[in-house]
Amino acid sequence: MGTVTLALLKEKIKSYNPSDLAIIERAFHFADKVHRGQKRKSGEPYIAHPLAAAIRLAELKLDPATIAAALLHDTAEDTGVSIEDIRREFGDDIAFLVDGVTKLGKLKYSGIERMAESLRKMFFAIAEDIRVVLIKLMDRLHNMETLAALPPEKQKRIALETLEIYAPLASRLGFGDLKAALEDLAFPYVYPEEHAMVMKLAQSEMSERANYIKRIQPLTEKYLRDESITILDMHSRAKHQYSLWQKLLKHDMDIEKIHDLIALRMIVPTIEDCYRALGIIHAHWKPFPGLIKDYIAMPKPNGYKSLHTTIFGPDGEIIEIQIRTPEMHEEAEHGIAAHWAYSEQKKLKDYRKNIASTAKDAELSWVNQLRDWQNEVTDSSEFLESLKIDFFKNRIFCLTPRGDAIDLPEGATPVDFAYHVHSAIGNSASGARVNGKMVPLDHELGNGDVVEVITQKNKKPNPDWLNFVKTSMARKHIASVLRTAERDKIFGQKQGGQLVEVRVIGKDRVGFLNDLTSVVASFKINMKGTRTERGERSHPLIIMNCPVKSDDELKKLITKLKSVKGVDEVSYRII
Ligand code: MN
Repeated sequence: MGTVTLALLKEKIKSYNPSDLAIIERAFHFADKVHRGQKRKSGEPYIAHPLAAAIRLAELKLDPATIAAALLHDTAEDTGVSIEDIRREFGDDIAFLVDGVTKLGKLKYSGIERMAESLRKMFFAIAEDIRVVLIKLMDRLHNMETLAALPPEKQKRIALETLEIYAPLASRLGFGDLKAALEDLAFPYVYPEEHAMVMKLAQSEMSERANYIKRIQPLTEKYLRDESITILDMHSRAKHQYSLWQKLLKHDMDIEKIHDLIALRMIVPTIEDCYRALGIIHAHWKPFPGLIKDYIAMPKPNGYKSLHTTIFGPDGEIIEIQIRTPEMHEEAEHGIAAHWAYSEQKKLKDYRKNIASTAKDAELSWVNQLRDWQNEVTDSSEFLESLKIDFFKNRIFCLTPRGDAIDLPEGATPVDFAYHVHSAIGNSASGARVNGKMVPLDHELGNGDVVEVITQKNKKPNPDWLNFVKTSMARKHIASVLRTAERDKIFGQKQGGQLVEVRVIGKDRVGFLNDLTSVVASFKINMKGTRTERGERSHPLIIMNCPVKSDDELKKLITKLKSVKGVDEVSYRII
């Protein structure tokens, strides 16, 4: 069995150079030896699992280190092998990846805390080196494919986690086909009755529509060829089960209202061809009003590009048509991984750098944004509540009057929009115009709306905004302004300043305490005592009691303390 599938893996990477092939093969034999005698719950030899993950990554043409690390991803988990052993055998890069995947799997909590912990770890991993998350996603895909072998309680927990964490993550990374696969594998375990219903509902309708596509496909091909458009590929794509169910929920379970149950998809060589093809199709069949979508001029927030139209075909049947170039197709299926397909021209070092910089790119700015604020939110349920909106909700694009696109969750308001443009605009917002019309500040924005925020000097956020804003960014800024106002009121009442207990955790070193106290002194604050607690911690906790005159001064003090060398964490308490 081992050799047959190793052959399959080798087949996928036969274009890689010999030294790359050698390292992958060596990783296989190492893992095979370590896992020997172990069996999956399905009865298969254990190696079949890491091998399956490695093959998926090889199909994406990822770099040799990622494929080798996928083969090794469970060796440091359930066996006597350590990360140090892997480092010695395979070097830093592969050891780093294996360590990263192993850490993602180690979760302390259960229930809602477990989910929050898991997501926090994922965000850090994405920002640091996304290959770790790609391996984890393929690990999960194979675990889902073999889920039938597990006991029912485990099945349900793993499938739910897949729906709530892994599929949205794949979606946010633009990984369309992986998202669909994970959702459809999880669907029957999490919602068995609904799944059965959808299958029954879809069955007859699907075959009817498939027959219709068979009728119009040759016609479409002819129309395009007559205008000498090259068709690289034309195929039908069926809506996957889980997304069909989601859409049915929105449309009162009426399958007749779902026009993209099966869509006709065509791949043409260039962007110009895409628009020409759209024009030719519309010349023969009338488009359904409001359903022409130009995701080329305005890609979806996860990078998806295509032209979509819904037309009245022969006999008045309604059908969706999707038009895209091969590059757009590759990106729609594989998202972020498509950018990193490994080619021999790329030097391995540059590859690593490339990945690190792509993760910091604007297109992944949400990762950094989430990582920043999730540090501030310590309450797990609050964290997840915000995530459900900021991360899991469908995204829309709204435009500034200058045409800049702002990426927001569905249901966002002009106040959310204002804060996403700039915090100063949010703070001084007094009204909004959407597509030229005045609207209240709690108005629900739609995709493609042009939003103009009207500001007023010296205007302050209204506490009522907290009742309707949808994004954590807006919430954070509003709460912070309100808190400052409140604090200044308290601080202003105390002669000589309000006593604040500032707590610093950092690596002890010579002169550390001295550096901290001179920061405090630079604010002309007369410290009222300081003490150090060691307790069980590896790093000491230093507590300083400081009389502070305003919230602004407090904020500056905390920022400055955080920049002292060796400081890990600064917190405070008003006493
Ligand atoms: Mn695994």
